[in-house]
Amino acid sequence: MEIRTIGVVGAGQMGNGIAHVMALAGYDVKLTDISADALTSAMDIMRKNMERQVSREKISGDEMETALARIRTTTTLTDLGPSNLIIEAATERETVKQAIFEDLLPHLATDTILTSNTSSISITRLASRTDRPEKFMGFHFMNPVPVMQLVELIRGIATDEPTFNACKAVVDRLGKTSSSAEDFPGFIVNRILMPMINEAVYTLYEGVGNVQSIDGAMRLGANHPMGPLELADFIGLDTCLAIMNVLHDGLADTKYRPCPLLTKYVEAGWLGRKTGRGFYDYRGESPVPTR
Ligand code: NAD
Repeated sequence: MEIRTIGVVGAGQMGNGIAHVMALAGYDVKLTDISADALTSAMDIMRKNMERQVSREKISGDEMETALARIRTTTTLTDLGPSNLIIEAATERETVKQAIFEDLLPHLATDTILTSNTSSISITRLASRTDRPEKFMGFHFMNPVPVMQLVELIRGIATDEPTFNACKAVVDRLGKTSSSAEDFPGFIVNRILMPMINEAVYTLYEGVGNVQSIDGAMRLGANHPMGPLELADFIGLDTCLAIMNVLHDGLADTKYRPCPLLTKYVEAGWLGRKTGRGFYDYRGESPVPTR
């Protein structure tokens, strides 16, 4: 099946990035959100981000205007009915996602493919509550979407090959690279990345190193572009803790036990860059380690 029109549900940081890259690749996009303000701000953010791409000569001004004109916004979910592919990127709460698919189903063509950008909810479980588990899969972009090259494509237990191939063709057309993963907690990237970040927090907790020595060691010793604690602050410490809990609960192995110090930072509301303080304090001119 050829995908021409894409419905994106949720216009937050991921949804607007997804609409951005899809429109630039030539797809007609319908973007919906329960909040009209989120839609207005998503259009502003996409224009600003595309203007940056124009100034860096990655795209032309004409390409930007054509892409923006391909995006329609609506607060009515069922307007996405005629889409060939739905990418759900709403708030990470299972009941929210379930209700979205339930409300959409009666308005879709029988061959419409359903996908979710979820980082942690079981694709198989979401799929099982729809009328088309074989046409359901995970379409997991990385943040920020216009910049990051990888898309994880996750097969639920029932996902069929034509569905997988259709989604893979979309990733190819975006000029991005897909990595195929089975549906287990954290998929591939978070399964490996989050335990590493959690271990960095344990290393701090046990006094093996301080924030600066841990990040410096991993930047220079493992050639990582960002230290693990700096990266944790970028992702959001609440998100890191939530994903560790998903790994711990879903895989039932104590090796995924979230570090008590990570829990303590989250309890303090020190969630990283977005709250101005995490493993670094961002409130001054330059970030200052908090330990
Ligand atoms: P966000 O909070 O920035 O945006 C979520 C948007 O969904 C909000 O604008 C909200 O109004 C909207 N929404 C809530 N309920 C809705 C409904 N019923 N219908 C339509 N819209 C609704 O969240 P985000 O960071 O963009 O994350 C979205 C999804 O992407 C989540 O599933 C998350 O796990 C996943 N994800 C996030 C990241 C990340 O780094 N932020 C990375 C990969 C995947």
